[in-house]
Amino acid sequence: MEPAMYKGSCCDIISWFEDISENASCVQMQTLRRILQLNFAVEYLKKWIGEVNFEDMEDSALESLYTSLVPLASHADFEPYVQRIADGEKAPLITQEPISTLSLSSGTTDGRQKYVPFTCHSSKTTLQLFKLAAAYRSRIYPIKEGGRILEFIYSSKQFKTKGGITVGTATTHYYASEEFKIKQRQTKSYICSPEEVISSGDYKQTTYCHLLLGLYLYDQVEFIASTFAFSIIQSFVSFEEFWEEICNDIRDGTLSSKITIPSVRKAVLDIISVPNPCLAKRVQSKCVELEEKDWLGLIPKLWPNAKYVYSIMTGSMQPYLTKLRHYAGDLPLVSADYGSTESWIGVNVDPCCPPEKVSFAVVPTFSYFEFIPLNRSENEVIGNSAIDDFLEDDPVPLSQVKIGQQYEIVLTTFTGLYRYRLGDVVEVVGFHRNTPKLNFICRRKLILTVNIDKNTENDLQLVVEKGSQILRKSRAELVDFTSHAEVGKNPGHYIIYWEIKGEVEERVLEECCREMDASFVDHGYVVSRRTNSIGPLELCIVEKGTFRKIMENFIANGAALSQFKTPRCTTNQVLLTILNFWTIKRFRSTAYGP
Ligand code: AMP
Repeated sequence: MEPAMYKGSCCDIISWFEDISENASCVQMQTLRRILQLNFAVEYLKKWIGEVNFEDMEDSALESLYTSLVPLASHADFEPYVQRIADGEKAPLITQEPISTLSLSSGTTDGRQKYVPFTCHSSKTTLQLFKLAAAYRSRIYPIKEGGRILEFIYSSKQFKTKGGITVGTATTHYYASEEFKIKQRQTKSYICSPEEVISSGDYKQTTYCHLLLGLYLYDQVEFIASTFAFSIIQSFVSFEEFWEEICNDIRDGTLSSKITIPSVRKAVLDIISVPNPCLAKRVQSKCVELEEKDWLGLIPKLWPNAKYVYSIMTGSMQPYLTKLRHYAGDLPLVSADYGSTESWIGVNVDPCCPPEKVSFAVVPTFSYFEFIPLNRSENEVIGNSAIDDFLEDDPVPLSQVKIGQQYEIVLTTFTGLYRYRLGDVVEVVGFHRNTPKLNFICRRKLILTVNIDKNTENDLQLVVEKGSQILRKSRAELVDFTSHAEVGKNPGHYIIYWEIKGEVEERVLEECCREMDASFVDHGYVVSRRTNSIGPLELCIVEKGTFRKIMENFIANGAALSQFKTPRCTTNQVLLTILNFWTIKRFRSTAYGP
């Protein structure tokens, strides 16, 4: 089942994937069998499976036995085991092989960073997925062998637990792994920045160096990339501020005093120390032109050989698409693949599909996947504390999913998670051969709820998109947003925080506020607003730079910029204090009367 990973060409890996997609259902059962063969004796599984011998069992009998004996679980169920691993316990708790590394999930989706087991399997599947995605991309957008990627990637700090286990984000472990180097060699594309830059631990210095080196090597750059689109945006927003300094460095072969970390200085100066006044002049004149046009088409103008921009642009990254298109001009945006710290899930096999429509074909060897059918419970109110907006059916295996149905994903991984609810909602939109293609819908957790109202991240995103259309008419742009359900006062109400760029009249912002209040279509919300059991929506405009402060707060607490996602709703007191402190204007909606 393994592809010819270390010597294979694009064709090999694509035909491997075509083959396992054709036999997806069978491959899934073999994947489950393999996971159980490796780990049947671990403490967690013994608790549920006991001494059952499944070696001679048929695949389908094994599958139904497994799902009948092992319960669905959440991160909290694995936490005590993971904690024991972190404390240094060597016994086989969730995997037979000892776990020596733990990943920190970004924590920006539910506000709390989680420890997730990381093994060599994690780096191998990452390599496999990146090679597979690169192979599909190169069929549509071929790139020059030996070219460069201007990739905005950032490692977080790694640390050791008291039990000697290395902890860091999954991307950090991957960038430090041999697989990261193998991927560059095998896809024959190399990043512009040396390892010292990626792992500097200071995102501002890393961003500066990525941009400087990207420009220094501009004619070799074949595409621009990052893990999540947010990092590309934040890099170019910074570029608008310090491009002149970069030009000086290129011209003189020097490095700005901004860069203070000796190892980074040395690594960068080793590359750029020959003065290049000709290139500096070129960059300078292009930047002067770009500045006049508000940096429209920055990427193709500065990197004329770039073929596309590649990054995760779906889910909570979708609101950045307008800005990304602004920078990318007519270059295609290729939406990157779907995964989590827990496991990779799907690959984008249609790179020319616009990000709004992209779907991900499940890779059936990565984990054993189950799907909990979710149905919207339009008018149903469960008690008064609505936890969720969905009615669940029993989980189904990959072979039984249906087009048009939404599901929550459940993972059984090679890294010791068994029937683990990931908390993502996806919709099956088709099949690639026999493996489902998934649209990412949202995190399952409700983010806005005061009483009987239920709104997800996706609902909020649609509402904010409507409000910001009005903003765009007055030539201003939404930089970032978040929200909070204020339940401390009676009646409770929603607060949406906006950071905007450009000047906007107050009456326009009042209209944006009204439009957003009127655009929440959830029945519970509409009814509650009509009866004033939810008060008028409040729009708070925050000072420029507030969302950068929020990101810095996450980074100071151990998150890596590569995995950062602005929380779309928050109850975190520190964030709320930042947001409220920097609020400069407040509006209350009149959508349901004055
Ligand atoms: P992390 O917590 O850093 O492991 O982030 C994983 C989460 O990011 C997933 O569970 C999804 O909610 C989200 N995510 C990952 N890939 C994508 C994608 N391609 N589109 C939308 N959301 C994604």
